[in-house]
Amino acid sequence: MTLQAANPQPDELLVSALIRTCLQYMVPAKTLCRVALNSPNWKPGLLSWAGSDALESAFRLPFEHLLSHHTVFNYATSFMSSTQYRQTVDGELQHRLGGTGAHLSALMQNATHAAMGWRFCNQCVRAELASLGYSYWHRSHNLPAVTACWTHATALRQTAWPVAGSSIRLVLPHEAESCLCRRRSPTGFELKLAQLSAEALLPSRPLADQASAAWYRGLLTEGGLISAGSAVSAGALADILVKAAGVRSLKEMGLLPRMRNPWPALMVREGTKVPFMPLKHLMLRAALATLPNAAIAALNHRPSGPPPSSSIKLDSHYARAASKTLRSLATVVESGISTEAFLRRAGCWGAYKHRKHEMPRLRHVVLNFRASDATLKRLGTGKRLYRNFPNETT
Ligand SMILES: [Zn+2]
Repeated sequence: MTLQAANPQPDELLVSALIRTCLQYMVPAKTLCRVALNSPNWKPGLLSWAGSDALESAFRLPFEHLLSHHTVFNYATSFMSSTQYRQTVDGELQHRLGGTGAHLSALMQNATHAAMGWRFCNQCVRAELASLGYSYWHRSHNLPAVTACWTHATALRQTAWPVAGSSIRLVLPHEAESCLCRRRSPTGFELKLAQLSAEALLPSRPLADQASAAWYRGLLTEGGLISAGSAVSAGALADILVKAAGVRSLKEMGLLPRMRNPWPALMVREGTKVPFMPLKHLMLRAALATLPNAAIAALNHRPSGPPPSSSIKLDSHYARAASKTLRSLATVVESGISTEAFLRRAGCWGAYKHRKHEMPRLRHVVLNFRASDATLKRLGTGKRLYRNFPNETT
């Protein structure tokens, strides 16, 4: 069976054009896959791709054009370096004969994060019905976490069919049952995310080579958010994202930054080598681009703990307490005690254990203790540290 598939429109998903073809020829999707596309086992979802020759001849368009203009492949690889991208496309070109694009499916998952339904914009639908007589499913409306149409600045509508599901519904947007993604106008963050996500689809790949920590640090330094060479505060960066995107939507996507997984801070940490999914890059970029300047606190990391002056005060307080205890031990202790037991009696074990590097005077008292008869484990007399301190018994 020779079939001329419907010509895909700008930003139209390949599967949307297949849906229109099925509707035009009045054939079930299963038949189309089996007879016309020579892929009997293919069960496509809205964002699916199958790199078969049959698909190319059905659409009469070259493989690379279909992949780049009518799938979410560009989005999935948007932050990949140009070299890696070329290798991926060339690898797919070599394997496509008779293939189903299975080895691309893991990569494409980068573009199906978050279980949202098939989405469309009412105003786009109206314009398409007026000019074409039908509507279609757009790539840019069905990207992860996108809830707004960038062209019309309106909230998208969504159906109950998840984009990650694997079954075609022979329905076009103007006939679909749907509800609004958000019951309010899109926020600045949502519009920016929609805009950046649409840019990620462009064949010119404007976001490539902008994924490194060094690139982010340049952006933050230019914006006056960090000083050159400073570490970034994980908490302050997470706050910026949470303020922009909202706790609820971050939780829905499983992307709420946590103490154990402060992913925004990891993205900007020097030396980071781990690749991050496009959605994380785009959310962080949208958050940094849309938060009012007044709400952005400087992101420089400030070390926790008391300032040096209070460390000195604490050191002399604990050293005095430990000296007093050491003097009392001479009369109380018959057999020796451990350093821990000594410091617990003096009430400064915790401070010594965790902050001894800030407490030189307390360390001196501990050495005196370990050189005395009160200690369970006396310092060897040949040890350098022992020689540096007076032995009260000699
Ligand atoms: Zn629209």
